[in-house]
Amino acid sequence: MSGLAEKVTVVQAGRKRGRKMDDEGEESWKVIVRDISEVARVTLHNLVASNTPPLPRCYEQEFFQTADSLEKRSVLRLAHKDQDGVASQLKGIINGARDHLQEAHSIFSDFERDARKNLDLLDQKLREMHGPLLESGIGRGREIMAHMDDLKSTNESFLNSLSSVLENVSRQETLLRELSQKVHEDALTGVLNRRAWDQDLDDIQAVLDDGASPPKQLSIVMIDLDHFKKVNDVHGHPVGDAVLRQFAALLKDHFNSHGSVYRYGGEEFGVILPEKDSAQARDLAEQFRQRLNRSRFLVNRDGLKLKITSSFGVAMLGEDQDVRQVVARADRLLYRAKELGRDRVEWE
Ligand code: GH3
Ligand code: MG
Ligand code: MG
Repeated sequence: MSGLAEKVTVVQAGRKRGRKMDDEGEESWKVIVRDISEVARVTLHNLVASNTPPLPRCYEQEFFQTADSLEKRSVLRLAHKDQDGVASQLKGIINGARDHLQEAHSIFSDFERDARKNLDLLDQKLREMHGPLLESGIGRGREIMAHMDDLKSTNESFLNSLSSVLENVSRQETLLRELSQKVHEDALTGVLNRRAWDQDLDDIQAVLDDGASPPKQLSIVMIDLDHFKKVNDVHGHPVGDAVLRQFAALLKDHFNSHGSVYRYGGEEFGVILPEKDSAQARDLAEQFRQRLNRSRFLVNRDGLKLKITSSFGVAMLGEDQDVRQVVARADRLLYRAKELGRDRVEWE
């Protein structure tokens, strides 16, 4: 198991080492390449040993898990950097497209409103002229009326096309909104992902640092499934994936009305509970632990049902109002829960 506190330190240490790497230049790259080769070799070995299908996604998960357990931080740091770059590019594209769509939507809406107004006016004028033109008995009267009717139906079909363009723009806006959510969603389990976790913690810290509002109350629960490697080893990766999906669904169902659920990585999850002190958060975690004990996970078509347990660490925001410290404390308590035999909640 790799701890959150450790991972947070890894990122910080990584930043410092990044500077050093620039100085040392090429030599450091040789080390990174050597580290990557070693991680890849052990990853392959693990995949073969656990009979995992060599699919890119399985390989990727195992690769970073291995880099983590071998403490190859240079490799983890590179991956982190890469993901951040892709995420911020994607965010830029989404935001740009959303701005353009909003602009198009407002132009089309104004245009549609004006066109409708003109059509109503034309309709009214036609009705006013209808009687006098017919009464005048002039042959041209009927001809003019026919032209005007043509004009009216052209306008109507133009308006219909405009409505469908507007509908299209709205649909694109919905798709873009969904895509923007996906950037913060974990692909396997559907809960919020690590990117959202980092961003939300930063946002919370910014509010705390602002100092304009009174000190806030908040608790964090760190969660790690017990002996999960065994699930993969005994039943295979796809079964492990199915367990993770059902576990996340249960977590969401239990905690979502109180806070937000994140997949921190692998088989580790985090819950941010605003407005809860640690006793309340502990109660929620304990209720979840008991619910998990009563649950059986249906993981394949043969009706195989698994019982899963998990360990929990709960900490609350202290006087320092430092949210990353809460994460670090919750993570240390999670370690303690593991050491004390697992399937338990440790809190402070
Ligand atoms: P502990 O009780 O100490 O936490 O033991 P553990 O076996 O759960 O911990 P360890 O960190 O040794 O193993 C975690 C395992 O989780 C290893 C890795 O293959 C598996 N894992 C991580 N992410 C995924 C995933 O997305 N799908 C599947 N199937 N397995 C995953
Ligand atoms: Mg773990
Ligand atoms: Mg575990």
